[in-house]
Amino acid sequence: MSLPANPAPSLHLHIDEEALGRNWKRLDTLSGTARAGAAIKANAYGLGAERVAPILHRCGVEDFFIAHWSEASTLLDHIAPRNISVLHGPRNTEEAAFARSVGLRPVINSLEQAHLWLNAGAGPCDVMVDTGINRLGLDLSEVNDPVLRKLDVQLVLSHLACADEDHPLNLIQLEKAHNAFAAISSAGKSLASSAGIALGPDYHFDVTRPGLALYGGVPRSEMAEAIEQVAFPQAAVIAIRQVDAGASIGYNATFTAPRPMRTAVISLGYADGFLRLWAKAGCFQFENKILPLLGKISMDMAVVDCSAAPDISEGDWVTLAYGLPEASAATGLSQYELLTILGQRLHD
Ligand SMILES: *Cc1c(COP(=O)(O)O)cnc(C)c1O
Repeated sequence: MSLPANPAPSLHLHIDEEALGRNWKRLDTLSGTARAGAAIKANAYGLGAERVAPILHRCGVEDFFIAHWSEASTLLDHIAPRNISVLHGPRNTEEAAFARSVGLRPVINSLEQAHLWLNAGAGPCDVMVDTGINRLGLDLSEVNDPVLRKLDVQLVLSHLACADEDHPLNLIQLEKAHNAFAAISSAGKSLASSAGIALGPDYHFDVTRPGLALYGGVPRSEMAEAIEQVAFPQAAVIAIRQVDAGASIGYNATFTAPRPMRTAVISLGYADGFLRLWAKAGCFQFENKILPLLGKISMDMAVVDCSAAPDISEGDWVTLAYGLPEASAATGLSQYELLTILGQRLHD
């Protein structure tokens, strides 16, 4: 028996596609003579890679970065495989063979991965050098290894650990990157992600790799003017009720109504990434009116005070105030966590 199609969901992640495009263009401009690519790993930071990739492709993005091989399949309808770099690189012969057959660009992070790639038949790849984050990438002592000369390197990369701060490591990494990049022959060089773009032209090289700022994150205050909010969680009002003075709302009765209140139950909860951390600081908006949260956030629901919006009714949609710098200050979560935690149900 075939079921009828699912009814329209009661929650939704609105993406301001124009703002996404404008953010990329501004980051590309801020990158000076370098061209801006796009980090679209982790399902484009929770926004949905399938929605984000074609928009960025139309904007003119040439360099896309994902973390896992499995992330490529949703992109290949829109993006040529040679323009997709896979940051984790090949872990084994199976992944190297997969990269070869699809035509994806592995990021080679170690001499072992360089050998794996050559043994698989090789092809265009990137090379990551570790200049101080001590995570992925070749050690500086390895950059003259002869095996690297056999590779067809498109981009030689490194990644900054503290670009969102004024930290002495930035300059140290920049100098090490210059040395490492000089040792490895490649078509292009790349050091900066979102925050690194704001560190200035010395950090730009040929390609920048913004992720967070594309999606509305502001990693350094210098970028606040340039970056617009892109992701807007929205949810339906599924109940309206009148609560008496002295009655409590939600689990553990943490909120007691000081006066008779009109409240709305919103179809968004912690299972959707709307963590309980938000309870103290969060609010929804309805036609520019502010609806503060009341009590604890439930798994699939939250309750708001809708005194400010007497005309709101069941079936209306509200928007969560989710400006990332403010949301990060309010919750203590990083802007990265706030984006990537947004649940799968928001994409239905
Ligand atoms: C995630 C990532 C980026 C993007 O970083 P943002 O801070 O989100 O701009 C760039 N390069 C590498 C290697 C990454 O892992």
